[in-house]
Amino acid sequence: MPSLSATLERFQPSAIAEIFSLAVRLKEEGRDIVNLSSGEPDFDTEANAKQAAVEAIAEGQTKYTNIDGTTALKRAIQAKFRRDNSLDYRSEQILVDAGAKPLLAHGMQAILDPGDEVIIPTPCWTSYVGMARLFGGEPKLVPCPEEAGFKLQPEDLERAITRRTKLILLNSPCNPTGAAYAEDELKALTDVLRRHDHVWIFADDIYEHIVYDGFRFVTPAQVEPRLFDRTLTINGVSKAYAMTGWRIGFAGGPTRLIEAIRKVLTQSTANPCSISQAAATEALTGPQDFLVERADSFRQRRDLVVGAINQMPGLRCSPPEGAFYLYPNCAGLLGRRTEEGATIESSHDFARHLLEHWGVAVVPGSAFECDPYFRLSYAASTTELEEACRRIGRACGELI
Ligand code: PLP
Repeated sequence: MPSLSATLERFQPSAIAEIFSLAVRLKEEGRDIVNLSSGEPDFDTEANAKQAAVEAIAEGQTKYTNIDGTTALKRAIQAKFRRDNSLDYRSEQILVDAGAKPLLAHGMQAILDPGDEVIIPTPCWTSYVGMARLFGGEPKLVPCPEEAGFKLQPEDLERAITRRTKLILLNSPCNPTGAAYAEDELKALTDVLRRHDHVWIFADDIYEHIVYDGFRFVTPAQVEPRLFDRTLTINGVSKAYAMTGWRIGFAGGPTRLIEAIRKVLTQSTANPCSISQAAATEALTGPQDFLVERADSFRQRRDLVVGAINQMPGLRCSPPEGAFYLYPNCAGLLGRRTEEGATIESSHDFARHLLEHWGVAVVPGSAFECDPYFRLSYAASTTELEEACRRIGRACGELI
């Protein structure tokens, strides 16, 4: 038999995949499952973006485009960065890819050599660790304590940086905690990073528009312009514009880095879908008012679920600044037993119990490198959320 890549040997099977396939199987068996494990908004793509795609097809925009994106989309992205982030990128400093996820991956491919350290504040989005490993990097996980709002502390960042550090991944608002850095908090981190000019910064701003209670979103290159030449500012239309399936992400960065990523694209994926690019251009240039309305709808749902969780024995959760996830602490449930006599020893046991016995799918904290917590997405209808809260409350209440 031919062998597979030795790199893949270093991968752990994902806890998300296990819960997801169990949820699918139970659903196929006819069980009533409330799925709060998904990472996508429950809104539909706006009509103007869909219409732009229809017109693009009718007009024959069905061919290869520039590898790094159409001129129209790059202009729309330039305007977006100016409008939302006060960042001025020239056209050659912008790049479009088939989602923020491939952009992160291609960005890492462009800079990492074997043994380079990648600083990842945890809890973190599952893909960061796998991606860093895939491209030869060594993830250096830096825990962000719950007491500090799950945010990276400047002194912990300073301690984590070594001569081998190549990259830090910053994600605000964060998946899975929803934590977002206010300007002074981010400035404290950029002050540390300024002292280490061998480190690249990837800012994953994909949840930028999903923030609450008057929170003002800021991004590293904006807060500290002296980091502009080392920062890749990554964003996309998946979350804010509810366009997960269209697969468009984009980034602004220094010319040298953008050219390097373009080189990777040239030899791998080439351009993202031409029709999706037309839809994304319209999404970014058309009316933006609905972004605030959607954020408010998410905020109402956040408050509903946080309120309910804090009434449940053994769970606690603070309201986060953004995204559409909660990351409740379930330490109070560990060591308790189910009615069948099984002991809950980890968030994984609790997530499995919730799914198998109560039909609620959430993701255990081990998937995000920080336990004992679980991630719950509240991008679901109020009816579903109320039902899920009823079930989780009963599940907690019945553990002995
Ligand atoms: N970054 C974070 C933190 C995410 O949570 C996700 C999706 O869940 C992505 C990036 C991927 O975004 P895209 O759909 O644009 O690839």
